[in-house]
Amino acid sequence: MNFIQTRGNDENKLQSVTFSQAILAPIASFGGLYVPQELPELGEAFLQKHMNSSYKTLAADMLARFEIDIAQDVIDKALDLYDAFDDASNPVPVVKVKENLYVSELYHGPTRAFKDMALQPFGVVLSSIAQERNENYLILAATSGDTGPAALETFKNRANVQVACLYPDGGTSDVQRLQMVTEDAENLKVIGIHGVFDDAQNALKHLLASEEFKKALKEKNVSLSAANSVNFGRIIFQIIYHIHSYLELVRQNAISMGEKVYLNVPSGNFGNALGGYYAWKMGLPVEKIIISSNENNILTKLIKTGKYDLRENAVVGTTSPAMDILKSSNVERILFDLFGDVRTKELMQSLEVNNFYELNAEELTKLQVSFDADFCNGEEGKAYIKDTFENDGYLMDPHTATCMKSFETCSNPEIKTIAYSTAEWTKFSPVIANALTGEKDAQDIDALKSISKVANLDIPSMIQGLFTKEVVQNTIIEKEEIEKEILKFL
Ligand SMILES: *Cc1c(COP(=O)(O)O)cnc(C)c1O
Repeated sequence: MNFIQTRGNDENKLQSVTFSQAILAPIASFGGLYVPQELPELGEAFLQKHMNSSYKTLAADMLARFEIDIAQDVIDKALDLYDAFDDASNPVPVVKVKENLYVSELYHGPTRAFKDMALQPFGVVLSSIAQERNENYLILAATSGDTGPAALETFKNRANVQVACLYPDGGTSDVQRLQMVTEDAENLKVIGIHGVFDDAQNALKHLLASEEFKKALKEKNVSLSAANSVNFGRIIFQIIYHIHSYLELVRQNAISMGEKVYLNVPSGNFGNALGGYYAWKMGLPVEKIIISSNENNILTKLIKTGKYDLRENAVVGTTSPAMDILKSSNVERILFDLFGDVRTKELMQSLEVNNFYELNAEELTKLQVSFDADFCNGEEGKAYIKDTFENDGYLMDPHTATCMKSFETCSNPEIKTIAYSTAEWTKFSPVIANALTGEKDAQDIDALKSISKVANLDIPSMIQGLFTKEVVQNTIIEKEEIEKEILKFL
């Protein structure tokens, strides 16, 4: 299958490209994104066939339907990484929390957040293509916390790929920082910046646009790629777990085959929700996708009013920082699917020039057929964490907690909901400890201990071990020095 572009073709790039081309150079004509030319139709027969399949078997068959230009042994090797999740026989457990609410836990991988679901296999795929072509790639990542550790973990010691990861010093949790600065491999460079996440992000954008930087990379025979969710190489692995979660509900006799469910997704860059949307289009029985947000509620406004408005909004820091995003990249792929490339280009250019676009009434109606949305603030989120723990015996992180509000406000109570849990309690422990016990401003290590006691849970060894692991990535610099530092590393 080939990939086409959300904003049409500028006649400089190819009309359509292979999967490998789309993932090596993910930016399409006019700054658009690559999308599959058509989606495979799976239908109920596919679901029936995989009633008793393992996650990996389901995944391999779904990927095969995409007919991508990746060798089977590479795909198999990529999927084998799910064997290292907590339960090799089921990397994504789905747990009943209360009547009609099931939580699909996407955080059982090495960095304890859902980025592993896609980045783990993606690392193998990207490195294999680079080796095959005898090319070297640099992955630049700016992270506020979860993408960085997951990208470092997956590319660690992989051939033909180097990673430079920028993070705001003081702007991540202790656990997230330690996950990055203790990563010891020659092909990884972690750089702390004096500043906030936006400074790291802007420095990276500046670098990506710099001709001088590109020239220096060329001299070193290195090409740039990206590991964020604009890369379809990540999205493809995010379709699988939606299908798996549905099948888990059938297996648990919670629904009958063919019964529709809500997918409730805590959203930032919209990669997770997009995976659910594609699964639906490929034949998964879905009633609606519910988009949950925090105070950065631009997606709620878009889905409720048709207006995407960046003019009055600045990102605010919240208790669910992985969702502190206003420019949500993957919404563009939905626009393309619903309204086509001409209209998508028009809307995205309006966003770039005017910081604003507005769907017309007909378009808004179409969007609302597939999506509903609500947002949850930090105090509400903490109340849901406490309440769900005390009344249902289920401990959730602040990102997952945003789903609890929209579960109440957006769902028909007759229809079952699959909500996605995107991080383990260990990743955001100070907020959770505060919710459960009222203790304030705890360090991660203390918060972990108190939650462990209250909830009677063990701190997983990969988290516990971080606090005694040697810090090997010591670089903390001003943002003006980033380019020099990266070139030195290469
Ligand atoms: C990345 C992330 C999200 C947001 O996912 P998107 O696919 O970007 O919408 C939500 N929660 C956590 C913990 C994350 O790391």
